[in-house]
Amino acid sequence: MKHLRTLLILGALLNALVLLFLLARDPAPEGADAGLGAALEPLVEDATMASARYTLGEAAAKTNLIVISMDALRMDHTGLGGHTGGLTPNLDRFGDEAVVFTNAVSAASWTLPSHMSMWTARWPSVHRVTNKLSLLGQGQMADTTLSPGIETLPNLLCQAGFVCAAFTGGAGVSGRFGFNRGFGTYVDDRAFAGLDYSAPLALEWLQQHKDERFFLFLHGYDSHGQHPLPESIIKGIPYAGSLDGGIEEQARLREEGLAAIQAPGQDASLVGKVGPEDAAFLRGIYGKKVQQADERLGAFLDGVKRLGLLDNTLVVVVSDHGDEFLEHGGLDHGHTLYEEQLHTVFVMRVPGFARKHEVDGVARTVDLFPTLLALLEQPVPAGLDGQSLLPMIRGEEPGRLAFAETDYRLFVHRRAIREGRYKLVLDLQDGERRLFDLEADPLEQRDISSGEPRRTYELEQSLKRWMTEHGTNPQHYLGIRQEPITIF
Ligand SMILES: [Zn+2]
Repeated sequence: MKHLRTLLILGALLNALVLLFLLARDPAPEGADAGLGAALEPLVEDATMASARYTLGEAAAKTNLIVISMDALRMDHTGLGGHTGGLTPNLDRFGDEAVVFTNAVSAASWTLPSHMSMWTARWPSVHRVTNKLSLLGQGQMADTTLSPGIETLPNLLCQAGFVCAAFTGGAGVSGRFGFNRGFGTYVDDRAFAGLDYSAPLALEWLQQHKDERFFLFLHGYDSHGQHPLPESIIKGIPYAGSLDGGIEEQARLREEGLAAIQAPGQDASLVGKVGPEDAAFLRGIYGKKVQQADERLGAFLDGVKRLGLLDNTLVVVVSDHGDEFLEHGGLDHGHTLYEEQLHTVFVMRVPGFARKHEVDGVARTVDLFPTLLALLEQPVPAGLDGQSLLPMIRGEEPGRLAFAETDYRLFVHRRAIREGRYKLVLDLQDGERRLFDLEADPLEQRDISSGEPRRTYELEQSLKRWMTEHGTNPQHYLGIRQEPITIF
């Protein structure tokens, strides 16, 4: 009897030990000895993937990369961002199998500096590609190009043996600014081209290179004000006003809005020239453009799937900035740092982890490439401003301080800092600061700085400290007035 009891106790202890061992075991068997398929299995099974480790293991060495930039796509005009108009069914479906950053912030509010911050993982004031022309002094201007001393992360991939190609809409992502470093192919010959031009070329290239390890950058201006929408579609939008909705008119209105910025600190003002019905019409056109962009994205993703690439390719869809429709008195983008211009799409499908995982902390597009390098197990250079988002994706970090800058056309100079739900926008020319609570007021219609002096002061100090650390004297632009440069 005594022996039996001892045996039972020992058996129970053994069971408990085995159970403890199983529970304590790392659920992520990195470099598992199974084949590629097994390594790509989700390492944690739960409904949301919230606790998945996002480690590709040995599959990392065989994974390709596709980065798709949907120029000027506002997050709040996508289903992923809460829009209920059904404008983006393809992007939303893609998001059903991906990590979706619901609070992604761009480093700048227009194409050139925003993409360059993604490319270099540096803030605009560090990479200094903030305008197409740079002021040399004495009124002399020169084409801007990225300093050879600043590395682009795509170039690192190309040097690491990826076959690299880019198919873009040119203009603000033209290769000559430094974007094309390392690429074997970089198509940028049609200014403001959409995915209808770039995506078929990209699919053709993929067909030829699908058996090599590749990095593909695809970009289109489909949602952008300078990308045309067929007149028949514009005519279908109910509107009784005098605007025609074409791209020449869009450019004219944009310039009129900028010309109305007569005093430092003023936002663009088309109020009185463009009424609420006109703005609704222009927003309607934008919605149609977003729909068209999404259809083209869907066709491209179908093509990638047909080529059998989804199981070994990391696919990212990102946008560089949004667009304004009179939310702060202007049209277009680049001139302010409000959410309609900064809140961007950032969705990442990691093979083997193909279920939706929303990450709500503040993420930054400057973190894009360090994250991709980390996932692909490529070395991440030291000293970058951006950092891998894997700790945030894994739930180990709540969110980040985000910063944004604009020195648009060398005549508006603004900076913003975002900490959780609060955002401070600082005008460097007149020192005016505005504080917003993005949870209570997502469209930033109420400046709460006077009611929250302490928070305003602390955020402003953090922002100015950050500026000083990144090479900008916060006093430098005080009182400066310049005309906007005309080539933009
Ligand atoms: Zn853009």
